Amino acid sequence: MRTLGVLGGMSWESTVTYYRLLNEGVRDQLGGLHSAPLLLHSVDFAQIAAMQKSGDWQGAGEVLAQAAHGLQQAGATALLLATNTMHKVAPAIEAAVSIPLLHIGDAVGQALKTEGVNKAALLGTRFTMQEAFYRERLIAGYGIEVRVPPLDEQAEIDRIIFQQLCLGQFPEDSKRYYLDCLTRLKAQGAEAAILGCTEIGLLLEGCESPLPLLDSAHLHVQMGLEWLLRTSS
Ligand code: GLU
Repeated sequence: MRTLGVLGGMSWESTVTYYRLLNEGVRDQLGGLHSAPLLLHSVDFAQIAAMQKSGDWQGAGEVLAQAAHGLQQAGATALLLATNTMHKVAPAIEAAVSIPLLHIGDAVGQALKTEGVNKAALLGTRFTMQEAFYRERLIAGYGIEVRVPPLDEQAEIDRIIFQQLCLGQFPEDSKRYYLDCLTRLKAQGAEAAILGCTEIGLLLEGCESPLPLLDSAHLHVQMGLEWLLRTSS
C-alpha cells in the first residue's frame, strides 16, 4: 500500500476522525489486520489560529509547507491537509513538495456533482465562508452555486467552531443554531449542505437535518483512501 501523509491538529478533534476513518476504510477494504500506512504531522493549533487571526497567512503557509516537506522526506506519497480553512495556503504547501496535495475542495466538489447538487449551503469558519479560495474552487471547478448565511450568523458559526468544537465541546444549543441556519438556507434554495469545517460533523452527528449533509472530513478521507488503495487492489 502507498503511504499517506496527514497534516493535522487543526484541530486534533477532527484529526482523530481522519485517523479512525482512514484505518476503518483500509480494514473494510482489505480485511484482517490491515490498517492505513500513515505519517501524521500534528501541529500546535494555537500557533496556527493566532496566525489566522492576525492575518499572517504567509507565516502559516511556511509552517505547513515545512511540515509537508518533512512528510514527503519521511516517505509520504500524497498529502491530506485535514482542515478546510488552511487550504487557503494550499499553493504554498504545493510549492514545497513534489507529491500531490489531495484538495478537500475537490473531494467536496466531486461529491456534489455525483449527488446532482447545483445549489449548496456552506458552513465553515468565516475564512471558508467568505473568501474565494474555497468557494471559487466549487464555483469554477464544479459549477456549484454556493449559499452562505448572513454575516451575523457567520460570526456566530465561526465563534462556535473556535470556542467550542475545536475544544471538543458540542452543546445542544449550538447544534440547534447550526440546524436553524440550514433551515433558512434551504428556504433560499439550497439543496444540500456542505459541512465545510472538519469539526462540524462531530456536532451534527446523528441529527435530523433539514438538508442532506456532505461532511468535508468524511469526503476527504474517502479521497485519501482511494489514493492509498489504488495500487493494492
Ligand atoms: N478544522 C476547521 C476547518 O476545517 C477549522 C480549524 C482551522 O481553522 O483550521 O476549517
